[in-house]
Amino acid sequence: KIRTRFAPSPTGLLHIGNARAALFNYLFARHHGGEFVLRIEDTDRERSTQQAVDVIFEGLKWMGLDWDGEPTFQASRQDRHAEVVAQLMEKGMAYRCYCTAEELAAMREKARAEKRPPRYDGTWRDRDPADAPEGVPYAIRLKAPKEGETIIKDLVQGEVRVANAEMDDLILLRSDGTPTYLLAVVVDDHDMDITHVMRGDDHLTNTFRQAMIYRAMGWNLPEFAHLPLIHGPDGAKLSKRHGAQSVVEFREEGILPEALCNYLLRLGWGHGDAEILDREEQIKLFDIDGIGRSPSRMDYVKLSHLNGIWMRRANDERLTALVMQRLAQRDDLNHDETVRARVLALMPGLKERAKTVVELADNAAFAGLRLPLTFTPKAEKHLGEEGKKVLAGLETRLAALEPFTPEGIDSTLRAFATEHELKLGAVAQPLRAAMTGTTTSPGIDLTLAALGREEVLARIRSALS
Ligand code: GLU
Repeated sequence: KIRTRFAPSPTGLLHIGNARAALFNYLFARHHGGEFVLRIEDTDRERSTQQAVDVIFEGLKWMGLDWDGEPTFQASRQDRHAEVVAQLMEKGMAYRCYCTAEELAAMREKARAEKRPPRYDGTWRDRDPADAPEGVPYAIRLKAPKEGETIIKDLVQGEVRVANAEMDDLILLRSDGTPTYLLAVVVDDHDMDITHVMRGDDHLTNTFRQAMIYRAMGWNLPEFAHLPLIHGPDGAKLSKRHGAQSVVEFREEGILPEALCNYLLRLGWGHGDAEILDREEQIKLFDIDGIGRSPSRMDYVKLSHLNGIWMRRANDERLTALVMQRLAQRDDLNHDETVRARVLALMPGLKERAKTVVELADNAAFAGLRLPLTFTPKAEKHLGEEGKKVLAGLETRLAALEPFTPEGIDSTLRAFATEHELKLGAVAQPLRAAMTGTTTSPGIDLTLAALGREEVLARIRSALS
């Protein structure tokens, strides 16, 4: 049975590279009817925070990536990690290293001077343990093979190999008794019956080292799939200057989770020319053979384009709730139930043009404005003498219009324009200015109907005064 895992370190915000790894692991497990589990790699006690753990939980839930069972906290498994190290000692596959920090620093210095990569020189590998100095703390190192090659058959990268001579004896247990990341991951993946490890290809060198630990324990290796990293639009490492990098930031910028997931999936995985995929289709189609080998470039424009598509598909009630959350943060607006009802009524028009929830909220904000409005210079131009005449003329007609519906409003405006030999725009623009203080809004008929007769008349009077 297939079992995948997402194994983030809770040391910051949920980075989109990691979020994509989570998505792939999730989809792969669900596609094959397997399980997807979560392991919080909190062994770095200094850098791990509860807040970062919460960000991971929330981010995964927001993206709809539900994991199976309870999450495992790696730090709680230290005894088990130490137990495996004891077994390796017994097998003669590990040894105590008494090198001091100064000695190790000298080794690195020497390597640098000789222009070769820093490597542990194996001082204590074959030394008689009886030579051990008294009272000096020791680390435990893996007795790694020196000859031959370590080969990984990666499901994405193909066969990758490294000469064992190029790798040194990695530390399993630090001198303070804590397990290293390399050891903990191997023990946990083994104990948790993980069949497929899918993670960023920045972990590839770790994988060679982890493979040595598996072999030393006589354990089967899981399958590996190393995912190419996500770069910035210019091909450089993704960084702040490019834009948002974490799930939280994208959410803040008004990206919907289904758009982010759809985008992250397509960024690095393909199936024919399928672009817009909902979760069901994603699960149906996802498999490892669709993962590309080259690094992906983050395309923020494409993401917001996709987001626009997903917003148009999204339920109006839900979008309204998201918009109201944002409007609630503004104290220059009303955000009561009346405003909510207006935003909901406007939503079919609003979501046609906006690309993010932030834009949606900006465009919806006029629904909560208090009188008198402030007008943009452009709007002001529509409220000159001509414009005011139009507004005054419309006021009585709109007051008498029954029922106050988009259709009724539309015919009223058209009739008024015909009678006064005006273009429809010459009627709609002063109205729009009076309703919103700006020159843009959804269709004027929809806008008036959403505000309701009373508010429309109040805004007209306010603009006329
Ligand atoms: N904890 C590691 C990280 O956040 C991932 C380890 C793994 O997937 O094996 O980079």
